[in-house]
Amino acid sequence: MELIYKSTRNDNETATASQAILHGLAQEGGLYVPSFIPKLDISFEVLADKTYQETAYEVMKLFLTDFTEEELKHCIDSAYDSKFDCKEIAPIKKAEGANYLELFHGATIAFKDMALSILPHLLTTSAKKNQVKNEIVILTATSGDTGKAALAGFADVPGTKIIVFYPKNGVSPIQEKQMVTQKGNNTYVIGIKGNFDDAQTGVKKMFSDGEFAKVLDQAGYQFSSANSINIGRLVPQIVYYVYSYGVLLKNGEVKNGEPMNVVVPTGNFGNILAAYYAKQMGVPINKLICASNENKVLFDFLSSGCYDRNREFVLTSSPSMDILISSNLERLIYKLAGSEADKNLEFMNALSQTGVYQITDKMREGLSDFWGGFATEEETAAMIKELYEKAGYIIDTHTAVAAKVYQKYLEETKDNTPTLIASTASPYKFTRSVMNAIDLAYDAKGDFELVDELNRLSKVPVPNAIEEIRTAPVLHKTVCDTDKMREEVEKILGIKI
Ligand SMILES: *Cc1c(COP(=O)(O)O)cnc(C)c1O
Repeated sequence: MELIYKSTRNDNETATASQAILHGLAQEGGLYVPSFIPKLDISFEVLADKTYQETAYEVMKLFLTDFTEEELKHCIDSAYDSKFDCKEIAPIKKAEGANYLELFHGATIAFKDMALSILPHLLTTSAKKNQVKNEIVILTATSGDTGKAALAGFADVPGTKIIVFYPKNGVSPIQEKQMVTQKGNNTYVIGIKGNFDDAQTGVKKMFSDGEFAKVLDQAGYQFSSANSINIGRLVPQIVYYVYSYGVLLKNGEVKNGEPMNVVVPTGNFGNILAAYYAKQMGVPINKLICASNENKVLFDFLSSGCYDRNREFVLTSSPSMDILISSNLERLIYKLAGSEADKNLEFMNALSQTGVYQITDKMREGLSDFWGGFATEEETAAMIKELYEKAGYIIDTHTAVAAKVYQKYLEETKDNTPTLIASTASPYKFTRSVMNAIDLAYDAKGDFELVDELNRLSKVPVPNAIEEIRTAPVLHKTVCDTDKMREEVEKILGIKI
């Protein structure tokens, strides 16, 4: 059956999967949502014996119904190959009673690789299907990890250019080095004098500017998005939750049909939304535990039904979660509002005009699948140290937020359901924060000395992604004001207005 996508802001705007991937964003700033969530059509026993790639096909074929089997399998096999440093693609490690789903074995050592290694293939396939003649310009705002993963995915992909905006003072030193050393003739990286929300707002503005789109079209370009608002990112993220259930079943961690909890360190709400969709597909998931850092806007929302972005933006040691406007939450709000675009639009207008909206009590009932928690900077650091000392397992700062929130969940609920914690980045990506958490004396050392220390403590080999940047030259130096983002894009594309 063909699955059609609808805009969260206009009931009349629909798209096929390939069109939704191509456009990234619907008109008027809407997000594409599947008109229904398909059910898995294989049993868990069968699932338990499938490879990552096979599982990916079983899940994605249900969402991307206008792709042929051959096209989809080609995309999957081109993405999940030796770019990943282990054949499981997303291995699960058990420590202190929880199952850590390591989503950082791809080229840029953060979970963004899970989707961004396949997105370029989905996008170029979609362009062919829809007879697109224009060059596709991927416009991306990043809080640190998406940028590099998207750059790596799109570098030198024919028919595309990629432009990444990141908060100049809001990413880790390793994250920045990874981006500004990016090779490829079609890659552009720009620091902005603002935070992630500024970058995301600037990018969304360019996307929803109809006049700009016309000018671009005349020059032979069209925009698409590599941000998690693109369903071409969301759908591949569902895969690893389905896959994990099969692995836990195979390992005897759960019995067939027995539920698991999922803990997700959350920023833009993309990863946890994928878990929510996995649950609706039929994966036995009990609670979706949404873990925030000190930018705890989602925790407050889940506890009160009031979303309020009017607060101080805190720079934390988990920068990829330093977000006050969680874009993908809109997809949940839309669903809670009975899948009515008008109702959703009221909330989103309130958000952009006043920074606040309050959902109804009826809508709040739909939030019972979720449990929200947050961890302070001190708690996050202490968690890294505790897990290292007790289990010899070193996790990154984002994963530590999740691990801490899971501890709080256990204390409060005593719920002993087997639990999967999404481990979203390699500790090597946030070496300084991780090593300082273990012992502050490390702070005196240089970034790459810390890499070697981390290697000594964790006995985990230094990933290629880190070795690569030790000596790589800086290739991107542009920095701009937040209100000059569009000018930078015009310059890159050689457009005069
Ligand atoms: C992007 C990111 C997150 C947040 O994921 P969302 O899908 O934006 O909620 C968490 N941890 C890391 C390491 C990330 O890169």
